[in-house]
Amino acid sequence: MTTINHNDIRNFAYQDNCLQDKIILVTGAGDGIGKVTALTYARLGATVLLLGKTQNKLETVYDEIEALGLPTAAILPMDLAKASFAQMNELGGLIQKEFGRLDGILHNAAILGALTPLEMYDPITFAEVIQVNMTAPFMLTQALFGLLQAAPSASVVFTSSSVGAKPRAFWGAYALSKQGLEGMSEIFTQETCNHTTLRFNVINPGATRTNMRAHAFAGEDPMTLKTPNEIMATYVYLMTDEASGVKGQVIDCQPK
Ligand code: NDP
Repeated sequence: MTTINHNDIRNFAYQDNCLQDKIILVTGAGDGIGKVTALTYARLGATVLLLGKTQNKLETVYDEIEALGLPTAAILPMDLAKASFAQMNELGGLIQKEFGRLDGILHNAAILGALTPLEMYDPITFAEVIQVNMTAPFMLTQALFGLLQAAPSASVVFTSSSVGAKPRAFWGAYALSKQGLEGMSEIFTQETCNHTTLRFNVINPGATRTNMRAHAFAGEDPMTLKTPNEIMATYVYLMTDEASGVKGQVIDCQPK
């Protein structure tokens, strides 16, 4: 496995065509970090499969990609709070038919849920947060596993948070879901790293200017935060062939 330096990755200087011909699925591609990442991947030559809940947001991203003359994207509307495993398998069948393989998945979609003590946490909200943030990435990865294995060196990236590394009071289901994803990446890595070229890693974007951040920190001036564009080097790096030996890492986009 490759030894990584977080600073080197944050400053990764990528070539304009470094994702040429790759097929990459991005969840939560209609807004925030997912939207910027989808556009970035398309600019670097990838065909991006745009998965998200709100169809018109996905259409906006699709149109932007078309207007720039980049590889035509695909729109995959899916509510991860409700999607069944059968629907995810069906999605795999569509991707198989159209592309025959999958070079990468960025599991980015998430919801914040409630910021409240566990003692008072609404169990229905709790279950929904775990479903969208943790169970859905597991099910989607499993449903698309064969397609990932059909690629020469596929990259699966989960999105964590600083509360995924260390539990924090009042962050409830969100923190637990992110801890779960970090564990999931580690388990997938141990189970695959010796006999496949598949790689599983985690990105913690750190405080970034999006709607989710504004919702979580209502009093904060968003202009003090980095934008999604400023963390793209890490998101790109993990999808490139240069990172083919990088497995089981949690990469922090927040400079210390
Ligand atoms: P946003 O809220 O801006 O975007 C979240 C995306 O997830 C949206 O596209 C949303 O789609 C999608 N999504 C939410 N629920 C569902 C669902 N049920 N089914 C399908 N898609 C869904 O969040 P960010 O861009 O800030 O966050 C991106 C990732 O980064 C998340 O995993 C988050 O936890 C993580 N993160 C963000 C930080 C930050 O400071 N911004 C810090 C640490 C981690 P729609 O708009 O259609 O609902």
